[in-house]
Amino acid sequence: MRTKRREIATTVSNDPTSYKLCAVCGSIVDKSAATCPDCYAYRFDTDPAHVADAALDLAIKPRRAVCHFDLMPESSEESE
Ligand SMILES: [Zn+2]
Repeated sequence: MRTKRREIATTVSNDPTSYKLCAVCGSIVDKSAATCPDCYAYRFDTDPAHVADAALDLAIKPRRAVCHFDLMPESSEESE
C-alpha cells in the first residue's frame, strides 16, 4: 500500500494543476470534482504548489484515515 501511495503522490506532484485540495479534510481530488468524495465539502484550494506539497506529505506520513476507496470490495484485494 505504501508504494501505491508513493505512486499516486508522484502522479499528483507531476501534474498538480489537474488536482485540488479539499479545504475541509485536505483530500486531494480531481479538479473536475464538484464536491469532495470523502466529506462532501465544496470549497477547494487550487494552488498547484499546495497540491504538490500535500501529495508529498501524504506519501511520507503514516495512513490514519479511511477513505471511500477502502469501502469498495476491490480494495480488500490490495496488500501492504
Ligand atoms: Zn473533504
